[in-house]
Amino acid sequence: MIVLNSFIHLFKTPGGHYLYDVNKNVILDLSEEEYKLLNYINSDDTGNCTMEFNAQAKESIDNLRDLGFLSEKRPKEMYHPLNDTILSHLNNKVNMITLQITKQCNLRCKYCIYSGDYENRVHSNEKMTLETAQKAIDFYIDHSRDNDKGLLAFYGGEPLLEFEFIKNCVEYFEEKAEGKYIHFSVTTNATLLTEEIVEYFQKHNVHLLISLDGSSEIHNKNRVYRDDKGTFEKVMENLEMVKTKFPDFLSSNITFNAVLDPRNEFSCVNNFFTDFELAKEASVMASEISNLYRKDTVKASENYISEIEYEIFKIFLSNLGHLDEKYTSKLLSKEYVERKVRYSRLKMRDEIPDRFHHGGPCVAGVQRLFTDVDGNFYPCERVSESSPHMKIGNINDGFDVDKIKTLLNIGKLSEDKCINCWALMFCNLCASAADDIDELSAEKKVSRCSSVIDTADSMLKDICTLREFGAELVKADMSERKL
Ligand code: SF4
Ligand code: SF4
Repeated sequence: MIVLNSFIHLFKTPGGHYLYDVNKNVILDLSEEEYKLLNYINSDDTGNCTMEFNAQAKESIDNLRDLGFLSEKRPKEMYHPLNDTILSHLNNKVNMITLQITKQCNLRCKYCIYSGDYENRVHSNEKMTLETAQKAIDFYIDHSRDNDKGLLAFYGGEPLLEFEFIKNCVEYFEEKAEGKYIHFSVTTNATLLTEEIVEYFQKHNVHLLISLDGSSEIHNKNRVYRDDKGTFEKVMENLEMVKTKFPDFLSSNITFNAVLDPRNEFSCVNNFFTDFELAKEASVMASEISNLYRKDTVKASENYISEIEYEIFKIFLSNLGHLDEKYTSKLLSKEYVERKVRYSRLKMRDEIPDRFHHGGPCVAGVQRLFTDVDGNFYPCERVSESSPHMKIGNINDGFDVDKIKTLLNIGKLSEDKCINCWALMFCNLCASAADDIDELSAEKKVSRCSSVIDTADSMLKDICTLREFGAELVKADMSERKL
């Protein structure tokens, strides 16, 4: 019997047997016999073969090989496809810029990345000067000539402590970005919102991302003033003002972001956003307390995990037409979308190229350009400002292209493992996952591989199960065939 070392992943669902062919980047349906046969000949222990397989299954597997499936080919090296053209992207296509206009904040949220619990910045009185902001905006305009859109985002600390500064930047940007379709965004705790601010933001089409964690009890646990007093009541008062005076602004320019603490129960937060009147008009999203650079990892409670899984299950039921959408979680609605997107990316190709790169890293500097109060550049606001590897240039000297290439090609760090990893296309590890501050650590990065691979496996199972039950996922160029 032949032994294969195909670059594939086999998996089962309650309704079927499948293989994901990494070279072809497609999922194929298998019969149970074909699955067993492939599982057997693609494993290491064929030596003591006592299993018998029917002729039809053997013929099917041969057919598949004749059609170019089940290839053993692996990429030879991790090399990002944009590596050789990165300079042109950096010079002409920078997508958005985020200005850290202040490190000050009127709050002391318990999970803040400035709180001291992270290998990162801490709260301080440092602020950006107008000269630095204008230089950063000039740099962005100069490096985004190919884009007809422009996005300037304000980040803190709490940006609304510097409203006059924001106004100056908005007007400077409007003047400099003439001819582009421009947007602004501010990430805020919403405690300092006033009528004057909202009126200005409405006039200049500024979008607000407001942190709101749930009911008074949940929100006030973490989101507190310096004296530990909760901020929920103040945020609600300000939102009522927005609703009464600027109802259009509420529905079109506000997104709420709930930071989930996975040590708590999920249902309380979820119930709050289901009943919360203002959330019916504005967009809502959720993110978990970040473990990136955190000194102590925040571990999810069993309750939290099972509640999330149940809510995702309900979202699937709703998309299959078995449950009214009103019973599903707004906070998790992206879960179904993610699976649809993933399905649409399963596009047939001849084979995986020799030079390839796993998913995960952004095109640092191009996708989003975070600029700190001193004018230093970073790939995004989530990476540590204390890390020299993440400092990818500054407003005076421009981009450090060598450092950017290292972040872009972070797969090199774990190349031997990655070239044999079936979850390459699903990997979401970027350089921040490897960042130890002192070095970019292969060990740190690969410690997260099993979780990435498990997630990829359950994503494939979800996609196939949903389709078994009739979900209309967008048809991509998918070579699905009954063998
Ligand atoms: S988290 Fe990583 S991939 Fe995402 S934007 Fe930041 S550096 Fe890029
Ligand atoms: S999960 Fe790990 S081994 Fe697989 S591609 Fe990502 S970094 Fe590489």
